[in-house]
Amino acid sequence: MRVFAASLATETNTFSPLFVDRSAFESAFYCPPGTHPETPTLCSSPIVAARRRAQAEGFTLIEGTATWAEPAGLVSREAYEGLRDEILGQLRAALPVQVALFGLHGAMVARGYDDCEGDLLAHARQIAGPDCIIGAELDMHCHLSAQMVQSADALVAFKEFPHTDFLERAEDLVALCLRAARREVRPTSAVFDCRTIAGFMTSREPGRSFVDRIKALENRDGILSISVAHGFQAADVYDVGTKVLVIADDDYHQAAALAEKLGREIIGWGFGGGTPPHFKPEEAIVEALTLAGDGRPVILADRWDNPGGGVAGDSTVMVEALLRRPEIPAAIGAMWDPVAVGFCRAAGVGAEIALRFGGKAAPSSGRPIDATVRVRGTTADLLVPFAQSWVSLGPAAAVTIGNLDVVLASTRAQTFSPPVFTDLGIDLAAKRIVVVKSSNHFHAAFAPIAAAVLYLDSGGPYPSDTRKIPYRKARRPLFPLDPNPWL
Ligand SMILES: [Zn+2]
Repeated sequence: MRVFAASLATETNTFSPLFVDRSAFESAFYCPPGTHPETPTLCSSPIVAARRRAQAEGFTLIEGTATWAEPAGLVSREAYEGLRDEILGQLRAALPVQVALFGLHGAMVARGYDDCEGDLLAHARQIAGPDCIIGAELDMHCHLSAQMVQSADALVAFKEFPHTDFLERAEDLVALCLRAARREVRPTSAVFDCRTIAGFMTSREPGRSFVDRIKALENRDGILSISVAHGFQAADVYDVGTKVLVIADDDYHQAAALAEKLGREIIGWGFGGGTPPHFKPEEAIVEALTLAGDGRPVILADRWDNPGGGVAGDSTVMVEALLRRPEIPAAIGAMWDPVAVGFCRAAGVGAEIALRFGGKAAPSSGRPIDATVRVRGTTADLLVPFAQSWVSLGPAAAVTIGNLDVVLASTRAQTFSPPVFTDLGIDLAAKRIVVVKSSNHFHAAFAPIAAAVLYLDSGGPYPSDTRKIPYRKARRPLFPLDPNPWL
């Protein structure tokens, strides 16, 4: 048996003012064949999972390129076509292969390509032929186009949000594709389009028990795999929205019936049914002060300024709100500002300087902050853990303004875990409020040290109110912009 594996991934916010070229992939994560590390990363996990199975079972694994760019705006045509053709050339050179595995995101949009993954998988099918088993792992925040489903034999999405299960789902994908290649099963996919922009967190109900139930339905009674594609609402593409994919063993009707049953359950949650309440900055501070205490801060998640959602991560809205309450011990991070980081590192730890930071990427980032700050800590590379992987925020600095500590970073990345603060000398137990630039990936690592977790609505720049997103390409009807046609 010969197996090919490669990875090409990013998440594209088509409303973002940031743009992605090849250098954004090369500087974030770019591993030519044979250079992928032992540790898995979010979207390249099929390579690591396939390596482990190849070692155990003795089949031949041919690795292609694995690359990832931090979510941002449109990918350039040259970057997408160049990376796609690099991987397809590697696949062609690896032939014959019985299995081709891809680590994708599922919401990558390039100039001229609204469905990069569908395009890549269709080309891979042409090259590898009809008998090759083609599988891909997807982030649950994917668009799940018909072209993706038709071009692959098996698509498996993360089930958990925060995405703590990327390696487990890669193992599921590899196991399913190997069984299919050995003709033990015949994966047959059906998709139910919920015609809704839903989304839920598995760190809370109703998402938690829903995911536990769909896991219990897998690998029994002919059901091979169940994935919920939540969709990625910050993309104006035809396929935006929530869909349920069920893969049954050679039984389309069984797959379709279960996909519809599960999809209708999600529709039944209604508007906002799967998401927590969101507090405006002032409300969030008041609410947090009633909950914090005993060495345990309240975590405020600045969801709509989350670099993982393709925006800059330099909004100053919460910094301004906290500076209006100087008596509150608080921390906020990590804000993207490579220029300010450079100034702080040059000034040195302990220096007191006049610093302008944040609020640079777009008007929606708020105004820059001008303050006299003390440089509390600096590092040449702020490297923090996330599940089984490590994420670099690049050169970074922490600055102090009275009771407020602010972490500034050079690389746009989410605030995945407490070392974003503690590695720069900030004691989170001494804080009452800690604001993290993350949607929910922070949750697993921060919840154990938190008195409570609250979600912020700081107004953007991510298009947070699904009722008002100015889509031009999305298929309609689509709830909550339109009544749900299934009801
Ligand atoms: Zn995601």
